[in-house]
Amino acid sequence: MDSSFGYVSDKNTSSVTFDPLSSLSVDRVKATSRLNSISNPSGIPILDPKTLNAENAKVTCASIVPSAKTQEDLQTVVTWTIRGVDDDLVKSGKAQFWDTKTNVAVDTVTGTLGDTANNGNGIFVFGNQEGRVVVEVHLGKDKDGEIIASYEAIVVSIKKVPFRVQLLYNGTDGAKTRTLEDAKAHIAVANIYLRQIGIELVPDSDADYQPKDNRTAPLPGKDNVGYFFNKDADAQILQKANFDKVVAATKYGHHPGVVQIVYIQSISDENTYGATTNHPDNMYSKTGVKDKFVRFEGQDPEELTMNVAEGKIDKDNPELWGFAIANLSGDPKEDVGTYGHTIAHELLHVLGLEHRSADADEDRMPVPDANKLRAQYRKNLIYKVGLYADIDAWQLIAARGSDLFKK
Ligand SMILES: [Zn+2]
Repeated sequence: MDSSFGYVSDKNTSSVTFDPLSSLSVDRVKATSRLNSISNPSGIPILDPKTLNAENAKVTCASIVPSAKTQEDLQTVVTWTIRGVDDDLVKSGKAQFWDTKTNVAVDTVTGTLGDTANNGNGIFVFGNQEGRVVVEVHLGKDKDGEIIASYEAIVVSIKKVPFRVQLLYNGTDGAKTRTLEDAKAHIAVANIYLRQIGIELVPDSDADYQPKDNRTAPLPGKDNVGYFFNKDADAQILQKANFDKVVAATKYGHHPGVVQIVYIQSISDENTYGATTNHPDNMYSKTGVKDKFVRFEGQDPEELTMNVAEGKIDKDNPELWGFAIANLSGDPKEDVGTYGHTIAHELLHVLGLEHRSADADEDRMPVPDANKLRAQYRKNLIYKVGLYADIDAWQLIAARGSDLFKK
């Protein structure tokens, strides 16, 4: 059979469903959560297979619906396989499983449905070669059994995005609500969200670079490279910053080509958690990736319209990329999940992605129905409203087409 979102077999067999949505809600994501906390990512990273299971991508069955033969079905033996898929946009990739029972890299694993620990409900995957792959679940103890479910993903190498965090405040107004430790936790959470598409925020290694104006001081300590502060920021930049003031904020301590993550108090639109100002061009901004890739059979491309923005470039600062984060994400310690989500969301804007919407001009929230694909659409990380986790395969391709990665 062809790959599908979820396959319901005859009623003598349990049905198995992969959930393309993460069930991970923002209030459950912590800085100390595993990097692979989001299951069923659209991207499977190329890793040293010996990397801890905490880093390998995790593909899990979201639900196993027992048939009439409940007990028997929950003990059904299944065999997982993975193979490359050719595509006109993405070439065939290679990936393997990490067998948690034997701690070796394998091409197939056999387990028992219902046995969450041992290759039953879920398996760990790592990539060997970039490209499109499909994970398939076969009934029985070998790969010749009937395929009861499959899951598509793209094997990717990890792309590192250098950043500088700028903590802006004013020494007299008590505005310094976020600390170095807060910002580090927020970045750690953002990297959990971004892991789905093989993108990782890394501190700018050149800690000594300073612009001529609007300098910021590096926070001392070798573990704090990439984090800066300025306690004399202008009130109009810190509070209710309009677009121009957000742009001004992103110039503090700016290092060309390095993404600026600037903490201020609030943005003029009081419902705004974060605002991206400048970003490079994206190879897909003119051609788009619409209609080129369908993650699941039956997915209607019209429902998944995605727009990729052309670069927004300041001619005086052609490599100024960045965004501001406002206090609206909540308590800097309690709400690390929300802050991390906001940073991941804004970074996708920096990479050229616009909000996921059925109609780019109209941020309407589609109503989920029996077709789960709509639910996936609704739960996207870059939806304008709502704190959802999923970044889908189209977005993976588009985000990684950013000129930020050209150097
Ligand atoms: Zn947005």
